[in-house]
Amino acid sequence: MLTSFEKPVHVIGGGLAGVEATWQLLIKGIPVCLHEMRPHTPSPVHQGDGLAMLVCSNSFKSENPENASQILKNEMRHMQSLILTVAETVRVPAGQALAVDRDLLSKKITQILVQHPLCHIERGEVCSLDDLPSDVDKVVATGPMTSPPLMQSLEKLCGFKRLYFYDCLAPIVFAESIDISVVFRADRYDKGAPGYLNCPLDKEAYLRLVASIAEADRVAEKPYEKMELFEGCLPIEEMVRRGEKTLAFGPMKPVGLRDPRSGKRPYAVVQLRQEDQYGGLYSMVGCQTRMKVKDQKRVFSMIPGLENAEFARYGSMHRNAYIRSPVLLNEDFSLKKDPHVYFAGQITGVEGYMESASMGLWVGWNIARRREGRSRSIPPATTAMGALIRHVTHSTGKSFEPMNINWGLIAGPLSPLPKDRRDASLESLSHFLQWLEKD
Ligand SMILES: Cc1cc2nc3c(=O)[nH]c(=O)nc-3n(C[C@H](O)[C@H](O)[C@H](O)COP(=O)(O)OP(=O)(O)OC[C@H]3O[C@@H](n4cnc5c(N)ncnc54)[C@H](O)[C@@H]3O)c2cc1C
Repeated sequence: MLTSFEKPVHVIGGGLAGVEATWQLLIKGIPVCLHEMRPHTPSPVHQGDGLAMLVCSNSFKSENPENASQILKNEMRHMQSLILTVAETVRVPAGQALAVDRDLLSKKITQILVQHPLCHIERGEVCSLDDLPSDVDKVVATGPMTSPPLMQSLEKLCGFKRLYFYDCLAPIVFAESIDISVVFRADRYDKGAPGYLNCPLDKEAYLRLVASIAEADRVAEKPYEKMELFEGCLPIEEMVRRGEKTLAFGPMKPVGLRDPRSGKRPYAVVQLRQEDQYGGLYSMVGCQTRMKVKDQKRVFSMIPGLENAEFARYGSMHRNAYIRSPVLLNEDFSLKKDPHVYFAGQITGVEGYMESASMGLWVGWNIARRREGRSRSIPPATTAMGALIRHVTHSTGKSFEPMNINWGLIAGPLSPLPKDRRDASLESLSHFLQWLEKD
């Protein structure tokens, strides 16, 4: 139900970015028509028809104040992020990380938006922006798996072919199928509530696992596609290809963990992170893969504690599309060619849940501001949001690649990384608050 006389903003895509953009508009009293293609047109990665559905891990990353992701989360909280507000109510234990029950998160957010008097949710695929009224603001927040007809029409509108890279999903197992006489519950260095189950591997078991990953059958890449992988989320078999010990020094590193049964640090650990508030599901951290399903079953059952694991979801790999934002977008993420069309979320060339959500929030905030007749105002580049905006709109060079928030982006490419990250985080947040207050 829309009760305002103002023209609604059409937000396309009810994912993380679309939901945050919508919320920023609603809290300023601006009506929104939110288009979501599911359930009529299913998505290859989203399950169910809920809004703000997380596609892979259930983690919003570390809450350590020195972590760049925490700086971003703090900035979003100061801008009334809907996702982070709801996340607090559906947390699951995950040590220092903020992890959530994905189904509850999506359910609660969907409920809030469905019940909002200024929000109308239109279920159905938007195949072209021409299908929507021409004289209204539109936000394209259709994510890395934008439906093919819309992506083709966006290429025409932008005058550029899409860019793409590949991203992977990690498997999820049922808790009752995990052998609890083998795994142990602990978080690295005992920080935070112990949220992880750890499958301990000795050297022999680790090497056997690595060898069988190396031999496993993979889903073949299409001959016409070049497999551009995202370095922040490499498939397990690619990590193995880079070296026998890559996993032991990477996602399976045993640092800060001691197996209470042996009293020793294992050679490697596979960590399982709780997925839902009831503890019925666990995701296999760092085990994103494109091995064929039969090989996933065989290989992962070699992990101590997972011998009889039953899978709620297998790992898989997907092609992620994004646009050439540095040439196409203004700093408020409006299209240079048509300032009533905005892009938000991962399609703009950021990567990660919080990064995508924050870039939706940014767009909603800007449209509301423009409707109030106010001029653009960009957070300083020393803030997390400012750094992402700069990355998306000012990256130079031939290859523009999606980025997670990190200290390199915040400090700036030419500046040394700060030695005292705690102080630097506080300074960054104070820059953000000064900017927000001035506004
Ligand atoms: C396989 C995979 C695994 C990932 N794993 C992680 C991870 O573990 N951690 C992490 O931080 N990030 C991960 N990401 C990256 C990223 O953070 C997420 O993709 C994030 O959900 C992006 O948010 P978004 O709002 O931009 O897009 P999405 O969350 O994908 O939302 C887009 C929405 O638009 C809808 N839609 C698409 N086309 C249309 C259309 N034509 N009309 C109407 N609706 C449409 C979709 O159904 C969807 O609801 C992963 C991405 C992929 C693809």
